[in-house]
Amino acid sequence: MSTAGQVIRCKAAVAWEAGKPLSVEEVEVAPPQKNEVRVKIHFTSLCHTDVYFWEAKGQNPLFPLFPRILGHEAGGVVESVGEGVTDVQLGDHVLPIFTGECKECPHCLSEASNMCDLLRINTERGGMLHDGKTRFSKDGKPIYHFLGTSTFSEYTVVHVGQVAKINPEAPLDKVCVLSCGMSTGPDFTTTLLFFSILDTYEHMTYSSSLLAGFGATVNVAKPKKGGSVAVFGLGAVGLAAAEGARVCEASRIIGIDLNPNRFEEAKKFGFTEFVNPKDHNKPVQEVIAEMTGGGVDCSIECTGSTQAMVSAFECVHDGWGVAVLVGVPSRDDSFKTHPINFLNERTLRGTFFGNYKPLSDIPGVVEKYMKKELELDKFITHSVPFLDINKAFEYMLQGEGLRCMIRMDA
Ligand code: NAD
Ligand code: ZN
Repeated sequence: MSTAGQVIRCKAAVAWEAGKPLSVEEVEVAPPQKNEVRVKIHFTSLCHTDVYFWEAKGQNPLFPLFPRILGHEAGGVVESVGEGVTDVQLGDHVLPIFTGECKECPHCLSEASNMCDLLRINTERGGMLHDGKTRFSKDGKPIYHFLGTSTFSEYTVVHVGQVAKINPEAPLDKVCVLSCGMSTGPDFTTTLLFFSILDTYEHMTYSSSLLAGFGATVNVAKPKKGGSVAVFGLGAVGLAAAEGARVCEASRIIGIDLNPNRFEEAKKFGFTEFVNPKDHNKPVQEVIAEMTGGGVDCSIECTGSTQAMVSAFECVHDGWGVAVLVGVPSRDDSFKTHPINFLNERTLRGTFFGNYKPLSDIPGVVEKYMKKELELDKFITHSVPFLDINKAFEYMLQGEGLRCMIRMDA
């Protein structure tokens, strides 16, 4: 029997208070309104951004939004659509995305940008764009949304500009990591705090992402087959950048990290060699230049450290080298490099969400996975049933593994 147009009662993991374990309980999910879709979530996973907002660190201290349903990485199937929705329909397989694509604003109309004016990530919005109200409630009391996705619920309501329609053959328990994808360290979340509380950077908040690292390599640095790539920072984002280098058939992938414990896990990700800047008594850019006969073809900075940003730029070859910044710095950071590095034809760029337009481009990345050109399974290290969602939080807080898959039907 169709549930379209009706309130659905289902299980959701509700964050009632900052830092308190989520409570899995029955909630009401209202039907989707104009330009909205209601999605049955099959798999979701946890990212540091969820933990950060659950701890309330990323929230405005005067107005923390609770109760709230967190979650933004997921895969699901459309249950019903609201007025005006033509791009997706009942039964479509979709990935909800924390940042959207309205297809009408100057950013969406520009081929170069993915930073939609209407649907760019917004951590402070707790209701839907259409009327500011929530679609979730419990005994008539509203429950706030998170990033417009709130995927820790069997059903959720999302703006149609925040769902990427994908190949229905794609396994949702794997490709759902593309909807955000990778855990993020404390440096990044501190930045989120700065950016969301201090209005100056209101629109510059980032969520972590496999696609940020992967896209930084394949969309922005674009190494040629046989080229050399240096990856600074071997957290999940850096590992995704290395996966991009592997897909581009780079012949050398050099991993750089201050923490040697990161090298072991990284071996599965195609690195050909590792460098710890602490093992050398000269700047790491000089070490890399010596290793590579003048510098690498591309470098991807995935640390958030300005020191690494400078090294990443100065270690690329003159004449053609491209460095891409992915790491999010602290608010007052700045760095210095000699302008001659630019005059010598080195390029420095930066990226948000790997330059992917969420709706237009993610289906193609899913196809890459289906054709076995892109590996995702190695990023998924744990799995728990929905009722044990708090265990996924424990893994994350203990820094265990890369990604924990949460199975909604288990
Ligand atoms: P992480 O904390 O897991 O990994 C960062 C790694 O960098 C750590 O292993 C650390 O030891 C290493 N590191 C720190 N300083 C270094 C230095 N000077 N030289 C070499 N290594 C150094 O973080 P993550 O989740 O992989 O995220 C990485 C960065 O990417 C963060 O800054 C995050 O905010 C950013 N990010 C950006 C986007 C975007 O769209 N631009 C999206 C997601 C994440
Ligand atoms: Zn737009």
